[in-house]
Amino acid sequence: MSTDFKFPLTDVKENGQLAVDAKTPPETFPDALSEGSLVGPVKLDGMILAVDDEAAFTGTAKGRWKFECTRCLKPIEQAWSTPIEVMVPIDGGPMDLTDEVRQSIALIQPMKILCKPDCKGLCEVCKKNRNEVDCGHPEGGGGDGVPGGNFTETRKPRLTPRPHKG
Ligand SMILES: [Zn+2]
Ligand SMILES: [Zn+2]
Repeated sequence: MSTDFKFPLTDVKENGQLAVDAKTPPETFPDALSEGSLVGPVKLDGMILAVDDEAAFTGTAKGRWKFECTRCLKPIEQAWSTPIEVMVPIDGGPMDLTDEVRQSIALIQPMKILCKPDCKGLCEVCKKNRNEVDCGHPEGGGGDGVPGGNFTETRKPRLTPRPHKG
């Protein structure tokens, strides 16, 4: 079984087109996301068409990913999809879309992701999740945070990557 998005162009040359319906495990893209992780297979479907001396792929990559809420660190799983368009010389051998998909995932990954639009985040004093408990500490105790409003990048919690365990 092929574990990457590499497609021979011989059929494209002969028939003028090749339908693409492939999937690959998330391990194919270990470094696509700077935070968060891919969940389940990444799917790619579309069509490779012969256009003069080139092979043009048009289609969609989709899958699921998991991020932590920027404010309260609660895990959030979401579906994602992104259009993919690539053109290569038709004599250039197999068309490898792996890198293109990786770059597209990196481009569309959310910089900020909230479990809900009005997530209250973690208490700055006792670190409890304000969505779940009312610990009674005043909000924005640190001073520079604007509750419910402009969440500044400088206050983004540092997420330390955890080693992957089976
Ligand atoms: Zn949250
Ligand atoms: Zn508290």
